[in-house]
Amino acid sequence: MHLDHQMKTWQKRLGLDDWNLSLRLVRQSQLEPNSWGGAEWDPASKTGTIDVLDPRDYNLHGGELRLDMECTIVHELVHIQVSPLDARDDEVREEVVNKLMAALMNRTCPN
Ligand SMILES: [Zn+2]
Repeated sequence: MHLDHQMKTWQKRLGLDDWNLSLRLVRQSQLEPNSWGGAEWDPASKTGTIDVLDPRDYNLHGGELRLDMECTIVHELVHIQVSPLDARDDEVREEVVNKLMAALMNRTCPN
């Protein structure tokens, strides 16, 4: 599947290729409001799940949808990458994650 391949490619680029991660498409009701993805992981076993919003619930279509889903995957992987830092402030963490994501993508993200 295209998204799984994309996630593996980004895992490798971020040095997270020793993690065993799976990707799921989930409906909006399973995510935080106003979010396009989520992740759960266990640093001890280096396993986790990345959730990406199902295209049926996405606010975008076609090329923009694909570009934004990639941004979501990178955003969630960066969360795993920075998790050892354990930022105390959720807003600060989001800001750092988004800055890193933007630097990695080197293009704008539709959302
Ligand atoms: Zn986030």
